[in-house]
Amino acid sequence: MSGRILVVDDIATNRLILRAKLSSAYFEVLLADCGAQALEMALTELPDMILLDVMMPDMDGYQVCQTLKSRPETAHIPVIMVTAANSTEEKIRGLDAGADDFLSKPIHDFTLFARVRNLMRVKMMFDELKLRETTSQELGLGAFLEDHSFGTDETGRVMLATKTPKQGEDWATCIRSRLPFETTAGSDEAEIFAMARENTPDVFIVCQHLANGGDGLRLVSNLHANPATRQSAIILVVEDNEFETAGKGLELGASDYIHAPFDPNEMVARLRSQMRRKKYSDRLRSNVRDGLKMAVIDPLTGLYNRRYATQHMQRIIEHSKESGLPYAVMMMDLDRFKSVNDTYGHDAGDHVLKEFARRLQENLRGIDLVARLGGEEFLVVMPDTGPSEVEFAAERLRRAINDAEFTINNTRSIPVTVSIGVAFGGPADENPGLLIQHADEALYQSKSSGRNRVTYFAAAA
Ligand code: GH3
Ligand code: MG
Ligand code: MG
Repeated sequence: MSGRILVVDDIATNRLILRAKLSSAYFEVLLADCGAQALEMALTELPDMILLDVMMPDMDGYQVCQTLKSRPETAHIPVIMVTAANSTEEKIRGLDAGADDFLSKPIHDFTLFARVRNLMRVKMMFDELKLRETTSQELGLGAFLEDHSFGTDETGRVMLATKTPKQGEDWATCIRSRLPFETTAGSDEAEIFAMARENTPDVFIVCQHLANGGDGLRLVSNLHANPATRQSAIILVVEDNEFETAGKGLELGASDYIHAPFDPNEMVARLRSQMRRKKYSDRLRSNVRDGLKMAVIDPLTGLYNRRYATQHMQRIIEHSKESGLPYAVMMMDLDRFKSVNDTYGHDAGDHVLKEFARRLQENLRGIDLVARLGGEEFLVVMPDTGPSEVEFAAERLRRAINDAEFTINNTRSIPVTVSIGVAFGGPADENPGLLIQHADEALYQSKSSGRNRVTYFAAAA
C-alpha cells in the first residue's frame, strides 16, 4: 500500500523518526514543523493522511484538526493525533476536534502501521467514491454533496456483541444516555450474525471474546465478508495489551479498536467518530447511485433519456448483425401539445406526458426500447421486428392514445393524439442517427398530412 502522509511536529527529531519509519514502508512523507504550515500544506498538497502532534507552540493539534475538518477541501483527510501521554482526556478532546485516531508517544511500530494502513484503506475508498460521484455528476445531473464535511450527530443504529448479556445491557444503557443511537445487544456469535443480516446496524461493537466460546475476530471477519453488513463500521474491543489481536482485527475488517477496560467517554467518542464516517460514506454512495440513475432516466416519465437511447440503439444494431433479423424505429410526437398546455395548464401537460409514457409501455414488449428524447417527442425501437409486425404495433399505439381521453384529477378529460413515423433497420445498417432521421422524416409526413396517423419511411421516400 502506498500513499502520501503529512507528518506535523515542532520537534525535528520526532519528524525524522516518523519519516524514517514511514518511508521504510514505502509511504511518501511530507513534513511540516508548525500548525500554520500544516494547514497550508494540507491545502496545497492534499495528502492522504496527516499525523498530527498535539503540543506545538503556534497552535495546538486540536485547533489544527478542527480547522482541517471544517474545510471542505480537507475534511475527508484522515487525521491521526500523536499524544504525549496515553490520557483519555486528550483522546476525547482529539475525537471531538474530529481526529480519526490516536497514537501515544513513544510510537510502537506495530500500532503505527496498523492504524496507518487501516485509515489509508478508508481514505482510498472515499477517494474512489468521490471520483465516481464526480463522474456521475459530469454524466448527468446528480446533486452534488453540498456539505462535504462530517455532519453533527445524526441518528443511527448500533449493535453490540458482548461476552455476557449483562455487559451488553450496561453498555447499551450508557450509549443511549449519551448519543441518539438506537442500540441493540447480544452475546451469541451466531445469533448476532443472523440479527445483523436482518436489520443491519451502522456500527458494530464487537468484543474479542463472546458467550459460549464465541470468537469476536471470526465475527468481524464474517460481518466484513457478508454483502449485507460489509458497509457497516466495526469497533473491536480487545483485552488490554493485546496489540496483535487488535492488528489482526483491523486486517480482518474492523474499522477501529479499543482496549478493555475502557473509559466510557472514549468509547462514546470513538463510536461517534465511526458513525459520522459511516453516514458520510452512505451519503456519497447514494449520491453516486442517484447520479448514475439520473444520467439515463427522464425524471418526469421514468423513461430512458436520449443519452441512454443512443447507447442502447448501438446494442440493438449489433444484435441485428448477429441474428440477421430486422428492427423497427418509431419516432412519435404528440399532436398540438402546445394547446394542451395553453388550455389546461403546464401541470396538466406534465400529467398527459406521464400517462402517455405509461400507455406506451403498456402496449410494448419488455425488450422494446422506449425513450423520451425531449419535450413531447418519443422514440421506440423494436428489435426482431419486420414491416408486418410493426404495422400492427404502431397502429395499436396510435389507438391506445386516441381511443381513450386523458383524465386529469378525475375532473377533466383531454383528447390527445399522436403522430408516428416508422423506419426499418437491418443487419446492414451501421448508423443509428440515420435511422432516427428517416423515422423523423416519416413523422413529418404524418404531421403534414393531418396528424394522428402512422407513416412508413419507405412509403414516404
Ligand atoms: P405539433 O402537432 O406540430 O407537434 O404541435 P405541438 O404544439 O405539439 O408542437 P410544438 O413543438 O409547437 O409545441 C410543443 C410543446 O410542448 C411546447 C412546450 O411547451 C411543450 N412541452 C415541452 N416539454 C414539456 C414538458 O415537459 N411539460 C409540458 N407540460 N409541456 C412541455
Ligand atoms: Mg407536438
Ligand atoms: Mg414538437
